[in-house]
Parts: sequence; structure tokens; C-alpha cells
Amino acid sequence: MLQAPSQKALVPFVSVENMMRLVHLIGIETMLAELADVIEADFRRWQLFDKTPRVASHSREGVIELMPTSDGDIYSFKYVNGHPKNMAQGLQTVTAFGLLAEVSTGYPVLLTEMTMLTALRTAATSAMAARHLAPKGAKTMAMIGNGAQAEFQALAMKAVVGIERIRLYDIDPKATEKTARNLAGCGLTITACTSSQAAIEGAEIITTCTADKQYATILSDNMVGAGVHINAIGGDCPGKTELHRDILLRSDTFVEYPPQTRVEGEIQQMDPDYPVTELWKVITGEAAGRRDRNQITLFDSVGFAVEDFSALRYVRDRLNGTGLYQDLDIIADPDDPRDLFGMLQRANT
Ligand code: NAD
Repeated sequence: MLQAPSQKALVPFVSVENMMRLVHLIGIETMLAELADVIEADFRRWQLFDKTPRVASHSREGVIELMPTSDGDIYSFKYVNGHPKNMAQGLQTVTAFGLLAEVSTGYPVLLTEMTMLTALRTAATSAMAARHLAPKGAKTMAMIGNGAQAEFQALAMKAVVGIERIRLYDIDPKATEKTARNLAGCGLTITACTSSQAAIEGAEIITTCTADKQYATILSDNMVGAGVHINAIGGDCPGKTELHRDILLRSDTFVEYPPQTRVEGEIQQMDPDYPVTELWKVITGEAAGRRDRNQITLFDSVGFAVEDFSALRYVRDRLNGTGLYQDLDIIADPDDPRDLFGMLQRANT
């Protein structure tokens, strides 16, 4: 008979199904708003974190990345891929899972799906940035790229920033139809548009969230008027950008972690000394965010490990009392810590 695993070594695991139940239990807009607050709280203590650009393994088709960080008490990492061509085979462009561990023992304390959680945390981060950078009272957002992330981005901007209208565009009209259908009844006024140019009409916030492994021009310089906030999500890998570089010459650009964003973000197109402001400094008041009505602000989002850390610790706290997890026996933990071999032998009796 197999040895019964010791209780303390069981690791809570949140499956995709349980993550979806947790989102519905909390309510998606509440969860997005709470995630934005948790991420903001961790950005306030930015200097405590161990930070490193994510470790990326590139191929012609896409990228596989590991994203680690720690605040000294808790360690986290996420495994995530980005494969724009997956969609044509019926697969997700982005999938992920992640882990939290106690720094004091190194033992994992949570393992969870993170495909859903990444969409939620990316949207919450966008909304947190927009809360500090978008024009006050912004009510309309253009959403260019209507794939897997789109509805999450729209609902986070509604819940956190208060947008009321969303203008959709995707090169594939079926993607726009899907997003419009999914958002129907959520309280946003939805307009499906037939070009990016049409989508950005009257929008104070422009979100670009397309997937293509190339230097794309989703927005060109003449399309971007004074005073808008651009939330650029899709350019997050070397050789994969969405904005014409001339837009960056007119914008004040805000980033998560410069050593990572200079390689992966829109600013990979710029000289190494192109000025950027770290978002955490805006949040702590050390740097200015939006200064005036005409300024173009650009959040050059690539996704950073601290956001995943925040999302993981939020899920761990919110799991309490829900039962929405399974205990996983993934840590060998013999009663006598030196008797790992004995544990193996006893498993054969
Ligand atoms: P997805 O493949 O589900 O959707 C992408 C959509 O973009 C598709 O509907 C596609 O038709 C559309 N598109 C492609 N080229 C376009 C163009 N020129 N104009 C308009 N639409 C176009 O991908 P997703 O999961 O929604 O992710 C979108 C992007 O966001 C990816 O590039 C992904 O790597 C990135 N991403 C970034 C973060 C971050 O933290 N910054 C997090 C998650 C995903």
C-alpha cells in the first residue's frame, strides 16, 4: 500500500474549473477591482521585491517564459507561453500556471491554473495604470484586438476607471462579434467598428491587444490625438510591437520594469536612452503621472512577475473557506526528514 502523504505537505491546487467558480463566487468586476488594489499595494512596496527580467525561450512560433519574484516572505513563479499562431489550430495564444512558496521553508503553498488568472491580472494592471494616467472622467475606450483578453480589459476599465462605452475592432469580424456578444448586458454601450480609425473616434483610452509576431502598426502617428491614454498590451516580446515609433516620440511612456520592457515592449523600437517612467513611482507619488489635458500617456505593458505574485497571493487569501481547491501530493515529506529512501521502500510493502 502507498504511504499516506503527511497532511502538512499537501499543496492546494486550483484547477481551471475551480478558478472559474471562484471568479463567479466573488463576481468578475469585484475581483478585477480587488486585483487592481492588490497589485497597486504591491507596486507601492516595489523595492522589497527580487526583480529580474523574465527568462524567455524563443522559437519561430512563439515564446515560453518563466516569471519569478519574491518579497522575502513569499516566492512565486509563473510559466506562460505566447504563440500567436496557436489560434489557427484552435489553441490559446497564451496559457499559464503558477506557484506560490514559503521563502522560510521553500515549500509550495499554492499551485494554480493561470490562463484565466493572467487575463484577470493583465486587465487589472491596465486599469490600475489607467486610474493614474488616463484623462479624468474618461468614458470611452477603443479596444483593438478582440481576442481572449478583450472582455477582461473592458470590464476592468469599467469597474476601476468607470468607462461606459467600448468601441471594438479586430481584423477578424468574428472576434468582434464574439466580444460584443459576451459583453452584452454588462452595462457598457458597445459599438462594433470596421477599422481601427473608426474605433478610436472619441475614445479617451485606446487599448491595443493584438497578437502577431511582427513589428505591426496597429496605430500610426496621425491616428493618435492629443490627450489620449494608450494601453498597449499586445507588444510583449522581441520583434512583436503594435505602435508606430513616431507615437512614442510624442508620448510620455510608463513601464513596469525597464530592463524587461526595453527588450520586450514598444520601446524596443527606441534608443536605449529613450526616457520612461516606472509605474510604481507614479503610484508612490515619486514621479508625475498625467500632468495635463493634452499629454499622450502610454502604458507600455508587457506583464511583470510582481503582478502574478499579487494575483497568486490574492487567490490564496480568497480561497479560504471556499473549498475550491484539491490537495495535491507533490511534495515528498517523510516523517523522518532523512529517511526519504525508507519512505520509498515502505511504499512497496
Ligand atoms: P488572441 O490571439 O486571443 O487575440 C488576438 C486578437 O488580435 C485576434 O482576435 C486577432 O484577430 C487580432 N488581431 C491580430 N492582428 C490584428 C490587427 N492588425 N488589427 C486588429 N486585430 C488584430 O490573443 P490574446 O490572448 O487576446 O492576447 C493578445 C495579446 O496580448 C498577445 O500578443 C499576448 O501576448 C498579449 N498579452 C500581453 C499581456 C501583458 O501583460 N502585457 C498579458 C496577456 C497577453
